[in-house]
Amino acid sequence: MSASKHIVVVGAGLIGLSCALGLRQRGCRVTLVEQGSRPEVTAEPGLRVSALNHASRTLLQELGVWQQLPLQRLGPYTGMQVWENNSFADIAFHAEQIGTDDLGAIVENQVLEQALWDAAEQAGVTIIANTKVQQWQQDHQGATLQLADQQLQGDYVIAADGVRSQLRSWAELPVTFWDYEQRGLVAVIASELPHQGVARQAFLPTGPLALLPLADPHLCSMVWSCDEDLAQELLQLQQTQPEQFQRRLQVASNGILGNLTVDSAVASFPLQMQYAQQWVHERLILVGDAAHSIHPLAGQGANLGFADVAVLIEAFTATEQRQLNRALQAYQRERKAAALTMIAAMEAFKRGFGTSQPLLQLLRGVGFTLANKTPPLKRWLTKVALGEV
Ligand SMILES: Cc1cc2nc3c(=O)[nH]c(=O)nc-3n(C[C@H](O)[C@H](O)[C@H](O)COP(=O)(O)OP(=O)(O)OC[C@H]3O[C@@H](n4cnc5c(N)ncnc54)[C@H](O)[C@@H]3O)c2cc1C
Repeated sequence: MSASKHIVVVGAGLIGLSCALGLRQRGCRVTLVEQGSRPEVTAEPGLRVSALNHASRTLLQELGVWQQLPLQRLGPYTGMQVWENNSFADIAFHAEQIGTDDLGAIVENQVLEQALWDAAEQAGVTIIANTKVQQWQQDHQGATLQLADQQLQGDYVIAADGVRSQLRSWAELPVTFWDYEQRGLVAVIASELPHQGVARQAFLPTGPLALLPLADPHLCSMVWSCDEDLAQELLQLQQTQPEQFQRRLQVASNGILGNLTVDSAVASFPLQMQYAQQWVHERLILVGDAAHSIHPLAGQGANLGFADVAVLIEAFTATEQRQLNRALQAYQRERKAAALTMIAAMEAFKRGFGTSQPLLQLLRGVGFTLANKTPPLKRWLTKVALGEV
């Protein structure tokens, strides 16, 4: 049945591209509409990276894309270290504790998007680039999309158009939303000491700072989440007194990688939590950031999106319409529950670490020390991070 379906995917980010490719591989006719163009890969590491877990890697291997990624642009990490600067809370994970080679890999979004784009084209996905969807309507049978110079009819439309999804707004799907009033500052950082393949995260009262290891042993990707005021101050400092910015970064990271130098521009993204209350509405399906977006402190946004894709593309192997309807309802139920669990966990983490209340700080320190010294608990936490639980 899927071979006779025409699916229109809107948005060629990591999630829309993998969804389009997976559906095409399962026999659907797929058209992908993207307002931008094929991603360019620059010689220097890109500013946006994702820490991908084993579950995401397995999906990308099954799609045949992981194998195409240039090894010199992949940063596998074998350790994770999380600590709090002003308490004794500290926890470390190592791949060998759970008998794996690594805990995941840091991948530049532009590198992965380009590989997915090329694979989708080769598989026969029709990509309409540099075109914005202008209007949309649907009924029980299908949907019609109005582009600048043509109309597209699809049996289903998949909205993978990101956190500000236009399709979700047109469908008037209610969204639960809160603004963290924080920004994520991202940059490539050169470190004096080698990162040794360890993903590091320091919790500061103003928000977490992550240093994620890139393929070069002396380059990390920085994700520094901080309150709006501090973010503006730091961005200003980077413009006017870059050495002062570097000094602040070094202090925030507890000097763990020695002297740090900013090796790129510094970009910033507003951080917000949101999830749509309905993910499947007649012939419209939400996926990835269009359905949910979370704080980047645990690096799980894209991982959640890839897990959506794994379930959604299997739903379209249904052999009759009633079976497909049931599979789509199951997609909505399962994936929404997974996203809400992750959102709640991130919120607890963020609120727990966001306080400088002495008693909570003490409890946190004790909790971390216990977790660090309790192998079964630590193994479980590691599996959660790998997307295996
Ligand atoms: C600072 C930061 C760090 C992060 N780090 C991690 C991490 O380490 N690990 C992790 O798993 N996640 C991470 N995330 C989250 C992750 O980046 C996102 O969850 C993921 O990129 C979302 O992908 P997407 O394809 O759903 O959406 P997007 O990447 O936003 O793609 C949406 C696409 O739709 C297109 N589009 C939008 N509207 C239209 C339209 N009307 N017509 C046509 N095209 C349209 C856009 O051009 C875009 O290409 C991080 C996020 C931030 C902000």
